[in-house]
Amino acid sequence: MTPKEALDQLARAAAELRNQLEYLREIGVNELTARSRPPAARYSAKNEVPLADSTGEHAASPISISRGKQQTFFSEIGNPSNGTQDSSLESIRADIGECTRCKLSQNRTNIVFGEGSPQARLMFVGEGPGADEDRTGRPFVGRAGQLLDRMIEAMKFKREEVYIANVVKCRPPGNRTPERDEVSTCEPFLFRQIAVIKPAVIVTLGLPALQCLLKTSESISRARGNWREWNGIKVMPTFHPAYLLRSPDKKRETWEDLLKVMQFLLSST
Ligand code: SF4
Repeated sequence: MTPKEALDQLARAAAELRNQLEYLREIGVNELTARSRPPAARYSAKNEVPLADSTGEHAASPISISRGKQQTFFSEIGNPSNGTQDSSLESIRADIGECTRCKLSQNRTNIVFGEGSPQARLMFVGEGPGADEDRTGRPFVGRAGQLLDRMIEAMKFKREEVYIANVVKCRPPGNRTPERDEVSTCEPFLFRQIAVIKPAVIVTLGLPALQCLLKTSESISRARGNWREWNGIKVMPTFHPAYLLRSPDKKRETWEDLLKVMQFLLSST
């Protein structure tokens, strides 16, 4: 490596660390763990965060851990449209096509399918596309998406290493909550995405995502932070980043939820 390459790498690591520290300062984290702790303990204390190692990478990054396979239910889900199992996200996207299965198709600009790693151990599920997402065809790219990016980075992941999707793939008018018939029409595509990705953990963002997966009448305030399970996959409900923009005092609780996810991912290799 040339001195210039080393300096560039150092600058990138410093920028990443600065972003993470800014996010953690916002949510009130005030203590950092010692580098010498064993990986399983690094995320164990409330309000603590892991440190980068000397290479600028995170020695205990959940990314470096091989994927745990979820074997319990995928043989049962299959493809709701044709009775067979999906082999790829591309085949699901092809099935969606220029979908007009529900009324959300009437006002959309782009279908927002979802994006990220098909091998992701960690998946985020939100409610539905907003204006920025409808315009670009990508999930979580507006202000809430930028906050989600910082949450992901604080968890020691890169955005491209997780998978991000929504309950409905077309923007509800005026960003209203998706209606029951819209959710029931679109959710099979999400379920098929989950079946292909086989994440170890799904973080649901906000109430509609929680209700979609768990069919619960619980409030998000009551459900958040408590592990649930969906067809053999661990589910951690937490607040939606858009809500956190309006209620920044909830960032602390959200971070505590995400710490539980990090701890589980580290302990489940
Ligand atoms: S929200 Fe889902 S089901 Fe409705 S039109 Fe869009 S892709 Fe089709």
